[in-house]
Parts: sequence; structure tokens; C-alpha cells
Amino acid sequence: MSIKRFFSSLLLTEMLKGMAITGKYFFKPKFTLIYPLEHTPTSPRFRGLHAQRRYPNGEERCIACKLCEAICPAMAISIESHVREDGTRRTTRYDIDLTKCIFCGFCEESCPVDSIVETHIHEYHGEKRGDLYMTKEMLLAIGDKYESEIAARREADAPYR
Ligand code: SF4
Ligand code: SF4
Repeated sequence: MSIKRFFSSLLLTEMLKGMAITGKYFFKPKFTLIYPLEHTPTSPRFRGLHAQRRYPNGEERCIACKLCEAICPAMAISIESHVREDGTRRTTRYDIDLTKCIFCGFCEESCPVDSIVETHIHEYHGEKRGDLYMTKEMLLAIGDKYESEIAARREADAPYR
């Protein structure tokens, strides 16, 4: 055994075996992507970064019913609300702590007015805990920025809901 190991090591057979495997796959189609220049397709149901949506007239959709807050298993959502002069109810505070969120999608499913949604955005990060604490203003800004993509994805998913 030791003689065999000696010659194996002397003739670099392990390295040659490794190079043979590399050579075998060198000309085959590649399954890897050049991320971030290339992305894999994502489902319209992909559950990424949250957003709050508005109606086309600019009015925020959320009616502060607090269903999302009640159903959130991670207790990541905090809502405070008030009644406006016109009798409608709106949030004064709508925060999501993404460090608690488990991206289950229950908030999105429970919302009667399609206000809180999980977008296709997954390229975000925080360098400290507070960076992942999303306020109402931040969520609305994400919704405003990506409304066309959000609407298109919800439309694509509509026949299956
Ligand atoms: S995705 Fe799930 S865990 Fe995250 S905020 Fe919504 S309900 Fe809570
Ligand atoms: S986001 Fe939807 S479920 Fe949550 S409080 Fe607003 S209207 Fe209700």
C-alpha cells in the first residue's frame, strides 16, 4: 500500500484525476450564472422586500385594519392608526422589523386591499440592526418606486389565486 501511495504521489495521479474532471466539464453547458449581471427567473409569488402600495390617485391603500399585524407569526409588524377628518382610518405608524420577519407572506395574504406586499426585491442589506427596521415612509417609497413591477407580478399570479 505504501509503495502504491508513493508512486501515486510521485506521478501526481490525484492532480491528474482532478484535471481530467475539470477538462470533462470545461466544454459542457454551464449551469452557473454570472451574478449579479445575470439573474435566475423568479416566481410572481416570490417573497422579498416588503412594500406598501398606493392607489393610482396617490391615496395609500392601507386602511389600518391591522389584520397583517394580528396574523404575523413573528410579531414583526407594529401599527398605530387614527381616524381622519373625512372619517377614513389610516396608519400613523406602520413598521416592519425585517430582522424578525420570516417572509411567510401571511401579511400579504391577509390584506383586504392589496396594500402590504412582498416584492421581488432581494438585493438589500443592512449593516446594523436599525437598517432593517422599515418604517411606513420607507415602505411607501419602495411601493412607489416598484409599483409597475408589483402590479405586473400580481396580475400574472391572479389566475392562480
Ligand atoms: S412576511 Fe410573515 S413574518 Fe414577515 S411581516 Fe409578513 S406576516 Fe410577518
Ligand atoms: S396593510 Fe392591509 S392588512 Fe395591514 S393594516 Fe393595512 S389594510 Fe390592514
